[in-house]
Amino acid sequence: MHYANAMVLDAPGRPLAARRIELRDPAAGEVLVRVSACGVCRTDLHVIAGELTQPKLPLVLGHEVIGRVEAIGPGVDTFRQGDRVGVPWLGATCGHCLQCLAGRENLCDAPQFNGYTRDGGYAQYMVADAAHVFALPAGYDDAHAAPLLCAGLIGYRALRFAGDAQTLGIYGFGAAAHLIAQLAIWQGRRVFAFTRPGDTASQAFARSLGCAWAGDTTQPAPDLLDAAVLFAPVGSLVPTALRATRKAGTVVCGGIHMSEIPAFPYELLWGERTVRSVANLTREDAEQFLALAPRVPVRTHVQCYPLAEANAAIADLQAGRIQGAAVLMCS
Ligand SMILES: [Zn+2]
Ligand SMILES: [Zn+2]
Repeated sequence: MHYANAMVLDAPGRPLAARRIELRDPAAGEVLVRVSACGVCRTDLHVIAGELTQPKLPLVLGHEVIGRVEAIGPGVDTFRQGDRVGVPWLGATCGHCLQCLAGRENLCDAPQFNGYTRDGGYAQYMVADAAHVFALPAGYDDAHAAPLLCAGLIGYRALRFAGDAQTLGIYGFGAAAHLIAQLAIWQGRRVFAFTRPGDTASQAFARSLGCAWAGDTTQPAPDLLDAAVLFAPVGSLVPTALRATRKAGTVVCGGIHMSEIPAFPYELLWGERTVRSVANLTREDAEQFLALAPRVPVRTHVQCYPLAEANAAIADLQAGRIQGAAVLMCS
């Protein structure tokens, strides 16, 4: 029997506990990955807080996983031992439900999610479904590649739903925003960044990445938006963003959880404005974004922590003390 160090969530609301976990051999269609780096995503905070209510328990969090294939289960011919791979949030899909058949596997009726319904990457090793694991572009070391796997992929999906918006507002300037802003600017869009009031450090960070304007969510934008993407999990920003968006514009909610959206006058939606959510990712999103990121190139800004200090990384993310993304160094 093999064991690995891991940081384990025993129950919502508790700090993660350092523990030795038993490693199982990869089953058919799976790979065992030796994890080198794992990003800390805001979704992890929602799981710890109990706001996402269906976690496997006890649970190893983590769905921005970079590592090397250590062992291969029966029937896997897509990877070899030693290959560098990335493991995202979407852990497995059924392949035969209505949504899967319609090309919307992100909405699968019987999905598995890494670091939520199955163990993830806050550990030295994890087992992943080989069909939902990706080869990675060169040019990113392990720590800098990690945020691409969720902040990048789901951010990319959110940006796609902004359509051809030329003037784009981004609300909440964390891990996803700092990547997607770079992509949007490279595509020739004008990006305005909205941060929590008083967060001048994030505003300066946004300007340093090429955003045309950065300010508080309480401030008016310098121009009407064609579309807005919300990464901050703050429901009151939905009417705020609608108010800032021109007719026919779209407000995209990029997070998996959001505080309640307050009532707002229909007039804000009138004019064929759209409010929509973005759920999970498809493997097609991953293939597209992982090919695009090195061409821009999207540069990830990371703050690294040893695996054993996962609780400190989580506290820093919760408190808004991270510029870019927090990443755990796992082995
Ligand atoms: Zn399905
Ligand atoms: Zn995530």
